[in-house]
Amino acid sequence: MKRRLKKLYMTIAPWAAHESTSRGRRHAETRPIGRSEFQRDRDRIIHCAAFRRLEYKTQVFLNHEGDWFRTRLTHSIEVAQIARTIARNLGLEEDLTEAIALAHDLGHTPFGHAGQEALNTCMAQAGGFEHNIQSLRVVDELERRYADFDGLNLLFETREGILKHCNPTFAQALGEVAERFLKGGQPSLEAQLTNLADELAYTNHDIDDGLRSGLIHFDALCQFPLFAVHAQEVKSIYGKLDEERLRCETIRRIINCLVMDLMETSRSNIARSEIASIEDVRNTNPLVCFSTAMQQDLQALKSYLLNNLYRHPNVLRMARKAKVIIRELFSAFSEEPSLLPIFWQNEYDRRGLRAIADYIASLTDRSAVSIYQAIFTTADKARDIFS
Ligand code: MG
Repeated sequence: MKRRLKKLYMTIAPWAAHESTSRGRRHAETRPIGRSEFQRDRDRIIHCAAFRRLEYKTQVFLNHEGDWFRTRLTHSIEVAQIARTIARNLGLEEDLTEAIALAHDLGHTPFGHAGQEALNTCMAQAGGFEHNIQSLRVVDELERRYADFDGLNLLFETREGILKHCNPTFAQALGEVAERFLKGGQPSLEAQLTNLADELAYTNHDIDDGLRSGLIHFDALCQFPLFAVHAQEVKSIYGKLDEERLRCETIRRIINCLVMDLMETSRSNIARSEIASIEDVRNTNPLVCFSTAMQQDLQALKSYLLNNLYRHPNVLRMARKAKVIIRELFSAFSEEPSLLPIFWQNEYDRRGLRAIADYIASLTDRSAVSIYQAIFTTADKARDIFS
């Protein structure tokens, strides 16, 4: 047993994140017993309220349209699964990777990107709204679970991984965690790979959900080499398969192919680099990448999804309604803050419009709809708002 533990420990690369080289927490805490510091971060994320609310937040399809489609929660779990596989194979810190993956979408508004766009417009005169920065705000400030501090008091490395992009104005306000957006530089390899695992996961599960919803079509996807080659392989092995098995067998092969490419390309990038520590990683080019050919194949699928799924009239119709709800809620609360729950009224007194944005961003799809109904519609119309 001892030998096995030692062997596992030895698989962690020197350029991975390590507790010993961590830039630490904003508030000093005693070391956890029975788990690592990175595990503690992962556990805090799983136990926080914003994580639970991801279950009822839109990925592409509004949650009420059916419970067969991905939500932000199942998306985050799929990202974590893919990212952990890659982390383990590259000798990176798996618990940190999982923590970043599970937290990366905590700041999403209800109704997905439509909700964010509407909230960003509402906040135009007050600093705007960006879901990725909001994810960091959730773990840094908005969760109120611990007696000694606001937020979850996560390690620098977890926070660094959550913050994927950031404009200079926000970067200045955020300090050390956003320094790379002002001075250049990269985050840890764990953060780099989780970012690509996100792209890999949503492209594939959106194809899956898109096909099942009937908004996009299997034959149309066969114009893309990455899809066609795997669809063809499944057909040649199994002959005639029912639609669902054909779709699932094709998609799992695409995921596997992307994961293998990402691991092999990154492994050789790392081997060719001269990194010896996480600080070296931060000061060099991105090392976790797809090969150029695979990146192009993936990009082609993403473009297809953009034009045919995310901009499908059915999706846009819902997005438009969602924007109305967010806009109307925002103007109702800013005109009459006493409509806010008492806790958020106090926050509004301290922080103004940002508190309203935080409150609206925290809502799930269905809670946003029901608050909208409570404010704007009479009881008999309330049921039909998304029909
Ligand atoms: Mg995501």
